[in-house]
Amino acid sequence: MRFTAFFSEQAARVVRSPGIYKFAVLVAVSGGGIVAYADATSNPASEYTEAAPKKKLVVLGTGWAGTSFLRNVDTSLYDVRIVSPRNYFTFTPLLPSVTCGTVEPRSIVEPIRNIMKKKTGPVSFSEAECYKIDHANQKILCRSDIGTNMDGNGEFQLDYDYLVVALGARSNTFNTPGVPEHCHFLKEVEDAQRIRRSVVNCFERANLPNLSEEEKKRNLHFVIIGGGPTGVEFSAELHDFVKDDLSKLYPSTQELFKISLIEAGEHILTMFDKRITQFAEDKFRRDGIDVKTNFKVVSVSDKAITMTNSSSGEVKVPYGMAVWSTGIGTRPIIFDFMKQIGQGDRRVLATDEWLRVIGCDNVYALGDCATIAQRKVMEDISSIFKVADKDNSGTLTGKEIKDVLDDIIERYPQVALFLKTKQLSDFSDLLKLSGGDAAKESAELDIEGFKKALAQVDSQVKMLPATAQVAAQEGQYLARCFNRMKICEEHPEGPLRIRGSGRHRFKPFRYRHLGQFAPLGGEQTAAQLPGDWISIGQSSQWLWYSVYASKQVSWRTRFLVVSDWMRRFVFGRDSSCI
Ligand code: FAD
Ligand code: MG
Repeated sequence: MRFTAFFSEQAARVVRSPGIYKFAVLVAVSGGGIVAYADATSNPASEYTEAAPKKKLVVLGTGWAGTSFLRNVDTSLYDVRIVSPRNYFTFTPLLPSVTCGTVEPRSIVEPIRNIMKKKTGPVSFSEAECYKIDHANQKILCRSDIGTNMDGNGEFQLDYDYLVVALGARSNTFNTPGVPEHCHFLKEVEDAQRIRRSVVNCFERANLPNLSEEEKKRNLHFVIIGGGPTGVEFSAELHDFVKDDLSKLYPSTQELFKISLIEAGEHILTMFDKRITQFAEDKFRRDGIDVKTNFKVVSVSDKAITMTNSSSGEVKVPYGMAVWSTGIGTRPIIFDFMKQIGQGDRRVLATDEWLRVIGCDNVYALGDCATIAQRKVMEDISSIFKVADKDNSGTLTGKEIKDVLDDIIERYPQVALFLKTKQLSDFSDLLKLSGGDAAKESAELDIEGFKKALAQVDSQVKMLPATAQVAAQEGQYLARCFNRMKICEEHPEGPLRIRGSGRHRFKPFRYRHLGQFAPLGGEQTAAQLPGDWISIGQSSQWLWYSVYASKQVSWRTRFLVVSDWMRRFVFGRDSSCI
């Protein structure tokens, strides 16, 4: 893949000129079907494209990964087109707060055009859903709900030179009958708004005259299925909403209200440290939240949820509202694409360590829709040996190993992880561990000894979690690669190619874990920070407030979120059913 985009100084000046800029912004903020069409066809980029064509870079999705990519990519280098059915970015970590009115929906979204207007080069956006990636013809097929074509079907196609797939994932129901019809999901702002209305509706319904005690109880039974971070956070928010606000407004319902949190595994929050899991379970039980672990939901009807447990067998519980939050699955459009490119036997779209889809050189995938397939050391062991054995002697000296060690560790991060886990100070310790005196500068290691030394390192290969942190870092990384494509073609900065010759253009993607939070309600948050530093309580809640305020994508949303928190402290949450 060679990057050949270039443009004259004069053209660059035209594109960057403030007048054109203002025009682009004006078009961008005007909104509406016709104006959106004008934006796509008559922006300066297309005029400029005729003079010196830039490579077409199509980005699918405006979530964490797509937006992070857009914010960091140099849009003056490419003809950038974004397609997403949402013309805004959502700060998903605050979605549970929207379900109970702690934060208002518009406070956690940023219009994508606000982000576009800050770019140095022109970018186009189309509010549409991509329904097919046609890789053989290098184009995507899209459909817009707002219908911009003359015949009103809203369908269009876009060609690409590079495609960045950041489509996220869908909620996974594991094909449990009744879930799509009767449960709420919590993935989008609209879901959170629906949940907020539904909670208040349940309370209003329970206050209608002539309802039996049994019916009232059923209406006020809130069931959350899935004890991961989202399910736990929503349970905590709902508990606070009822305790702080609704119980004062609906005093007769106090004794009837109940939250059940259902988890198929042995514990909730299993991705956190055991101390946090324990604290969360204890706190929820103290708060009266019924934490049911080892229960698997098998079906949901309009009035009852059926679950099974090894000791109590099948149990049926009546409910008023249910929220399903058991994890994520691959979107159908991604499955279809995977079949086209020979990844049909996988469950998730796989990329290499440079976020390039395996099997397609010019398609990149990041965020929840893809996973990095880290190459195993043992798959490449003979090639690694050959690269290291510079003098072709059939053995490796300590010096030969040292010379390629940095490249090996960069290409196969599991080697460094293994050393860290086993508390080995460096590679020579690893060789010593494998036996013999191979680590000595003078000693020589043959292929069998080399294999033996590295036999265990692949056990450290880990999949990255599906989080906003990963998606945002991937977007930032990929944008940097695109910005440096030309420079790195000439001066590669990556590790030695193990199977080919020369060096990789870029350093592979490295995830830096910055820690994670689990808000547990009642101004208590559990924080697990790098170095397994654990903090639980009110001080972590204040840390949570400051981190989430600082992570907002704009000063506008930062201001809105902080003022929502203050409003809640002073006036409580609003219980209007709108
Ligand atoms: P998304 O952010 O989901 O974005 C996908 C984008 O693709 C969207 O813009 C969507 O409209 C678009 N799209 C979908 N289909 C199409 C199509 N056919 N054509 C074009 N565009 C399409 N992570 C954390 O790190 N910390 C947290 O505290 C945290 N809390 C969370 C709370 C909740 C309630 C949820 C749901 C998630 C939370 N996450 C958290 C996870 C985090 O939100 C995801 O990992 C992250 O959103 C993944 O980013 P993404 O860009 O891959 O996908
Ligand atoms: Mg040698």
